[in-house]
Amino acid sequence: MTDHRSTAPVDEQDSFDAIVLGAGAAGMTFALVAAHEGLRVLLIEKTGMVGGTTARSAGTAWIPGNFSMSDDEARADVDAARVYLDTLVGVRSPASLREQFLRHGAAMLRYLHAHSAVRFQPCPKHTDYYPELPGAKTGGRPVEAVVYDGRELGRWFARLRPTLPEFNVFGGMMVSKADIDRLLNLRASRDNFVHALRLIARYAADRIRGYPRGTRLTMGNALAARLLKSVVDAGVTLQFNCTVDSIDRDESGGFRIGLTVGDRSNRACRARSVVFAGGGFSGNEAWRAQYMPQPTPHFTAASAANDASTMELARALGAVLAPPREHNAWWFPSSIVRRDDGSTAVFPHIVMDRAKPGLIAVDRRGLRFVNEGVNYHEFSCAAYANGAVPCWLVCDANFIRRYGLGAVRPGIRSLRSWVRRGYLQRGATLDELALDISVDAAGLQESVARMNGFAASGVDADFGKGSDGVSRLNGDPAHAPNPCLGAIEKPPFYAVEAAPADLGTSLGLVTNEHAQLLDAGRAAIDGLYACGNDMNSIMGGQYPAPGVTLGPAMTFAWLAALHAAGKSPPIS
Ligand SMILES: Cc1cc2nc3c(=O)[nH]c(=O)nc-3n(C[C@H](O)[C@H](O)[C@H](O)COP(=O)(O)OP(=O)(O)OC[C@H]3O[C@@H](n4cnc5c(N)ncnc54)[C@H](O)[C@@H]3O)c2cc1C
Repeated sequence: MTDHRSTAPVDEQDSFDAIVLGAGAAGMTFALVAAHEGLRVLLIEKTGMVGGTTARSAGTAWIPGNFSMSDDEARADVDAARVYLDTLVGVRSPASLREQFLRHGAAMLRYLHAHSAVRFQPCPKHTDYYPELPGAKTGGRPVEAVVYDGRELGRWFARLRPTLPEFNVFGGMMVSKADIDRLLNLRASRDNFVHALRLIARYAADRIRGYPRGTRLTMGNALAARLLKSVVDAGVTLQFNCTVDSIDRDESGGFRIGLTVGDRSNRACRARSVVFAGGGFSGNEAWRAQYMPQPTPHFTAASAANDASTMELARALGAVLAPPREHNAWWFPSSIVRRDDGSTAVFPHIVMDRAKPGLIAVDRRGLRFVNEGVNYHEFSCAAYANGAVPCWLVCDANFIRRYGLGAVRPGIRSLRSWVRRGYLQRGATLDELALDISVDAAGLQESVARMNGFAASGVDADFGKGSDGVSRLNGDPAHAPNPCLGAIEKPPFYAVEAAPADLGTSLGLVTNEHAQLLDAGRAAIDGLYACGNDMNSIMGGQYPAPGVTLGPAMTFAWLAALHAAGKSPPIS
């Protein structure tokens, strides 16, 4: 792979067709498509690595009517998805933008498969998050990034942001969702055992060869790696550790961009178009305080480098922020882990524990407030709506041994170290646990007693855990009579504190269907685009399905790049 273009310093004489700010899924998709369409592209990344939040994500994109379906199925699926989004999102976002996404998402995937190293595969088991609503589908719309061999990146591997340490095993080996299933069921088949041995052997070989982490990349890291390979191969110029200080219209109708590269300020270059793809405002304290609910969440699972600096630059050029909604971010219920090196990890409780039988979530009165098995965004909205921030996930020792709890993996022999470092709270009795976590003891006793009754009957008469598609999918199919309802009865009892942390922000800049920025009068601003979380989400603050941030991010980045190149998307 040629890489001489990588960090060549830009100067006043340099003129690009498009400059992209931010090298996440959105920015890299724009860059590679624009370059493929013949534009001269500069991709500016504020940090020393590409990937942003994308690199730590699950790498799932929600694309109705995607390549896993026949043409007829795809058409019907897009029609159904329209009904689903109209029902769930409705007036919270412009139907015209949702339509643009639905019409073109599948074509975006086809384009990337044909012209880049990006590859997705279907996730047949990933259900929409409100399967009871009209138009919902219980599998087939999400696609996930195919595992990638990081060795293909050559020296560019060092420019790929790693995933979070908590998502690795052995300190640097990535696993996919399919790997996790097999590793958790090692004894179930010889194939699973052989697969595990192969993974470990590959990882050991990587480390012996001197790689700082495993090179078999999965999920969002595979997606970011595939995009990086593609932008480099497409001839995009990359500039790392670069901040844009100013953007001014020049006399030709293009833009003069003032830059600081490393410690060298007062540099500049010119461009016809500028694309804002800085990944939203998760890393900006003032914006968090202004646009997130109270109490303002302390932590984010997203990249802290996404600090709204790109959106501020766009606003200075006349772009406008969309009207805030009740929820301007997407949420994971998260627990906080102090790493051995003293740093803080935000551990998202996504699918592994909440829906399983034998766990309840309680507020400070010791009372449940939600069906614990609902999707992570819905769970967190319920926590806010019910004053349960933070809340406690409560279970017994048997539960943790079988299913794990947050950062504590299943099968662990002793929980002592987790208790010692304050991640888990432990009580020999429920009263003792309640005292430890400052929760009302009578309330907790009552909640546990009620859940134990529901476990026997198989019906959660209070919140319906295990009666809906999402919690049943993430429950334990081997558990009866209800895969999500189990008794909490064998002391000692444990609890972990959980609070909403955002996985990204959804309030962004107002755009039209080409992802062109609009001004206060809703007129397109020539030459300016936003995509990814810098663009106001078409999901209107809702979280309809897995992959609803990356799917639209990549679709609108593709549409924007075609528009900047003066091309139309293929008719679909
Ligand atoms: C654990 C986890 C799992 C997730 N899984 C999924 C999933 O499976 N599917 C899904 O749809 N969503 C998922 N998400 C959310 C998703 O990852 C993000 O919404 C998405 O990656 C945002 O993409 P982006 O391109 O907008 O931003 P990013 O990928 O964050 O990229 C933004 C880039 O811009 C750079 N930048 C910021 N400011 C500037 C500046 N001023 N100049 C230059 N560069 C700048 C940043 O450093 C960063 O590299 C997950 C999130 C988390 C935390």
